[in-house]
Amino acid sequence: MSAGFRRAKIVSTIGPGTWKPDVFRKLVEAGTDAVRINFSHTSREDAAKIVALVNEVGRETGRPIATIGDLGGPKIRVGDLPTETLEIEPEAFYWFVPEGQAPPESADSTRVIPTTYPQLAEEVEPGNRILLEDGRFEFVVEEVDANERWVKAKAFSAGELKSQKGINLPGVRVGAPPLTDKDLEDIQFANEHHLDYLALSFVRQPSDLVTTRQTMDKGCLLIAKIEKSQALNSLSEILPESDGVMVARGDLGVELPYEEVPMIQKRIIRLAQERARPVITATQMLESMIESPRPTRAEVSDVANALLDGTDAVMLSAETAVGEYPVEAVETMDRIIRRIEHDRLGRTGRAGKHVRGVSQIQQTTSGAIAAASMQAVERLDSPFIVTFTRSGYTARIVSAQRPSVPIMAITDQWRTFNQMALVWGVQPVLFRGDVNYKSMLDRAREVALDLGLGETGQRFVVTAGVPFHVPGTTNMMRVEEL
Ligand code: PEP
Repeated sequence: MSAGFRRAKIVSTIGPGTWKPDVFRKLVEAGTDAVRINFSHTSREDAAKIVALVNEVGRETGRPIATIGDLGGPKIRVGDLPTETLEIEPEAFYWFVPEGQAPPESADSTRVIPTTYPQLAEEVEPGNRILLEDGRFEFVVEEVDANERWVKAKAFSAGELKSQKGINLPGVRVGAPPLTDKDLEDIQFANEHHLDYLALSFVRQPSDLVTTRQTMDKGCLLIAKIEKSQALNSLSEILPESDGVMVARGDLGVELPYEEVPMIQKRIIRLAQERARPVITATQMLESMIESPRPTRAEVSDVANALLDGTDAVMLSAETAVGEYPVEAVETMDRIIRRIEHDRLGRTGRAGKHVRGVSQIQQTTSGAIAAASMQAVERLDSPFIVTFTRSGYTARIVSAQRPSVPIMAITDQWRTFNQMALVWGVQPVLFRGDVNYKSMLDRAREVALDLGLGETGQRFVVTAGVPFHVPGTTNMMRVEEL
């Protein structure tokens, strides 16, 4: 585990290109730690097949694999156009109206864009921008009639618009509820299939997460996708309501000028790590590998920089969902991570980027124990840290300290075992048997010797929350001998 153990994790989005059992097995072999099911493009029927496949391969290989259900959220879209495409001409005016509603008499009937969002006219005002298809088409609002529910806007792009393309309204406070009816059905699916994580799209405020959590089964963890400027403004309040975050760079780079994204990425990762929330950096990481077996050098640098920023995980989207080289994309991620970690782990002490200063987490008992265990590892030159954890909380707190040595996280919970596959530096170990300090310590020693983690006589640090059955109470640190 020590030499071959990779700290940062790889999330692969599964789609038609990878849900075949033989390809999926290769994807796991290549290093996939977590699987993302994108409910925007995946039917619940196909999602059920993916979950069954993950469970089968997980049990077969003994490897933890986290499942993440990504909810579509309140994404506004172009409705169904009457023709296959609508020509957009620069400088021309177009009328946005709710799907099914007749355009105003003053409108040019050949220039009507139906939308899935009836409140559009209530929320935009002249001067606001309307972006379609990830910014490919840009419009600026000229006139609004909230009573008649239409918006007249001038086009600044040219091309053929198709039905169902996404709409972004940069800087507009969108009042849509955080969950659509479809999201609620997808959450029910997630509950029935015991998904490990749900990711909520277009989070705007902490209450979006509170509302979502009320519908989720208790053991499932909630990831806040940060893709709106509104969310960035209340990140410090959003983080405590989440169990993890995603830097959703696709929509983020449409909602905000794309040149803002690199610094935002650094800020999200830093704040999340201060609060021990795992971070996934997502979108277009190896985009060219959808069609090419080799990444561009710029993509390699992008992945490397996300790791240097301190991300827990890097994500593949279309590369693995529909791309031609899914296994190569995961192998590429794996190579980049190992190379960067080889450099970062060359010295003792902390690895990766560690948040300096006293974070909120460090002022808690758990934070103090985690910080103390870091000191003990450094002073004793321990080859690894052991955490006994029920909910994964202790492992997340220790991980946020970014120790240079592997964190062996032992749990008797199948779901926690899989959830921890997403957390930086953690090697999840499933424990079956009588849950008590001695039996879990014996298991830790056994795994450590099996994996050649250390040598007899070396000291290692153990952290845990005692009693074991109360989650979220890291309150103990001990030094043991191998
Ligand atoms: C994103 O926008 O970057 C993202 C991850 O979300 P989605 O893939 O659902 O658009």
